[in-house]
Amino acid sequence: MALRRVVTAEEDTLRKKSREVAAYDDKLWVLLDDTHQTMDKFGGVGLAAPQVGILRRVIIIEDNDTKYEFINPVITSMKGKQREVEGCLSMPDEWWYVERPDKIHVRAMNRYGKEFNTDADGVFAIAICHEIDHLNGVLFTDIGDERVEDEQELEKAKRARNRKKNKHKHKRR
Ligand SMILES: [Zn+2]
Repeated sequence: MALRRVVTAEEDTLRKKSREVAAYDDKLWVLLDDTHQTMDKFGGVGLAAPQVGILRRVIIIEDNDTKYEFINPVITSMKGKQREVEGCLSMPDEWWYVERPDKIHVRAMNRYGKEFNTDADGVFAIAICHEIDHLNGVLFTDIGDERVEDEQELEKAKRARNRKKNKHKHKRR
């Protein structure tokens, strides 16, 4: 495993559309393992392959101390709305309120090329939407409706988000 550099928002890479994964092989597993390691090092709750410089449709999300790998993820349905503060490892100084669906259903492949489906809500749904946006060259600052600049406001917003995090549940099948 190797630590990779996190690509920043000034770089073109984050504006490009990532390609689907076709081969579930060593090369993919190295990418996944490196992405895990990089996320652990920098402390995010999600990371997309383009953020480590690889334009492939691969994302990793951490939720309640479990990491989930999604390869070629597709949101097949969404319901409701929620608005929480978001940050991004590629833009460490930016915090924005973003409106997202409250519940989503996702179809994806695992690292061995087997399809799975997941229901997600709350903060887990937010993280999946945020990372899938990265695969399409979209940044949260593009769709955020309000930048949070005040330190106290930011702490309040993060606490509200964490309360939601502790409450939510999701199923994988
Ligand atoms: Zn991000």
